[in-house]
Amino acid sequence: MLSHFIAGELVADGGAHREHRNPSDSSDLVAMVPDGSAAVVGRATAVAAEALSRWSRLAGPVRADHLHAWATTIGDRREELAQAVCREVGKPISEARGEVARCLTILRYSAGEAVRSSGDVIPAQSAEALQFSLREPLGVVALITPWNFPLAIPLWKAAPALAFGNTVVLKPSEMASHTATLLADSARQAGLPPGVFNVVLGTGEAAGTALLRASEVRGISFTGSVRVGRVVAAVAAERNIRYQTEMGGKNAVVVLADADMERAAMLTAAGAMRFAGQKCTATSRAIVVAGAEREFIEALRRQIERLRIGPVTEPDAAVGPLISSRARDSIRRTLAEADAESLYEAALPDGDGFSRGNFFPPLVVRGTDPDAALAQQELFGPVLATFVARDVDEAIALANRTPYGLSASLFTRDLRQALYWVHEMQAGLVRVNGDTTGVDPHAPFGGMKGSSSGSREQGPAAREFYTEIKTVQINP
Ligand code: NAD
Repeated sequence: MLSHFIAGELVADGGAHREHRNPSDSSDLVAMVPDGSAAVVGRATAVAAEALSRWSRLAGPVRADHLHAWATTIGDRREELAQAVCREVGKPISEARGEVARCLTILRYSAGEAVRSSGDVIPAQSAEALQFSLREPLGVVALITPWNFPLAIPLWKAAPALAFGNTVVLKPSEMASHTATLLADSARQAGLPPGVFNVVLGTGEAAGTALLRASEVRGISFTGSVRVGRVVAAVAAERNIRYQTEMGGKNAVVVLADADMERAAMLTAAGAMRFAGQKCTATSRAIVVAGAEREFIEALRRQIERLRIGPVTEPDAAVGPLISSRARDSIRRTLAEADAESLYEAALPDGDGFSRGNFFPPLVVRGTDPDAALAQQELFGPVLATFVARDVDEAIALANRTPYGLSASLFTRDLRQALYWVHEMQAGLVRVNGDTTGVDPHAPFGGMKGSSSGSREQGPAAREFYTEIKTVQINP
């Protein structure tokens, strides 16, 4: 039975709980997660509001020290945390370890932000006056996060929020709550003052809704599906509080005939299939310019075959299970409706390590209709739809022809085409000769069109979200 983490203490929940099972092995019960309630959420937001004045008035270097201490604790517990991610969400252990390492970078970067300049001097119209801007924290911020990066996403929101003097109430996904409680425990162990970082567990409908509505909350940072992101945006707009929503993608690679085909195929295979395609930036479409398709598909097949499917605890595993049997059913339904022609389907290993997991074979299909669900909707699985375009203009038009705009990559050796692509592609992350997944933890992250709203996350962009500007003028 998992407990909430409020004011530095575990708070048991007497209400209903739901099971969460290991996606690799349904016989392994990972956690019983409370549904959460408005009362628990109210307690957490009240505690966070109470802690705000002390935390926001600490000197920046002191807040930085706390974040460094948190990083040290996470570093000390890195293997325990990586194993928890692997077990709870089915992430291959090598990627889970990478996620923990990323957390350390995020915390150390944010610690640095806490001691950097927090405003500008602005010439006043009167020569005698001193005018400047101050950046102040928003107050209590609510963080609502998905299951697929159970450490990194909560931390890439919480670390800058805390660095800039906000206090936090995190509501993690019901499917990543065990890892979130370990994160909370590491904050306690690192000596983070009670009340500045709180974790309420529960369903979106119960705990999530209550958190969006809590009167103390002055900002909401959400990552998850478009469906829920729209709810978050509507509530925040109605309450006139700041929000950002990071949502899904239908990310494309475009392959030109002059590309290094083996490299293009290797990075496309990795972007589409690693972690079973369950990243918001996963590659789900490959658009190949006519003439190159045969060579590319052949190379792609070779590269996918190199990606080992589970067990996720093995160091060289690349593809794990889907998060739930429901996710697997939903992908199967979309594929059946699309009547898609399979170009390649990996063989799933059999045996004990696989029979109780939600494994789904990496699959490459021919996507004939660019407006069909297969080409338009996020599947969140190891499925790549391929298209052939007449030329680069048609390829870019196809890449842009979805409601999303998160990440995209072009493979070419032609600098002119690369520059053209950078200007024409409507996505928050645009790459050349790279995969669509991942972003440096200090670079702005987010999408265009239906993928995001509000300011970007990470790096200097986080300052925009987690602070308010106060313009001050002092006259003699
Ligand atoms: P989800 O939208 O189902 O859930 C996200 C969070 O919202 C969970 O904590 C959930 O409990 C909560 N929630 C659900 N209903 C709510 C409500 N009515 N009010 C308040 N909170 C509510 O998403 P998921 O299945 O956990 O994650 C997968 C999705 O996340 C995919 O669409 C993926 O693309 C997206 N994602 C986006 C990014 C990004 O940065 N753009 C990163 C990772 C994942």
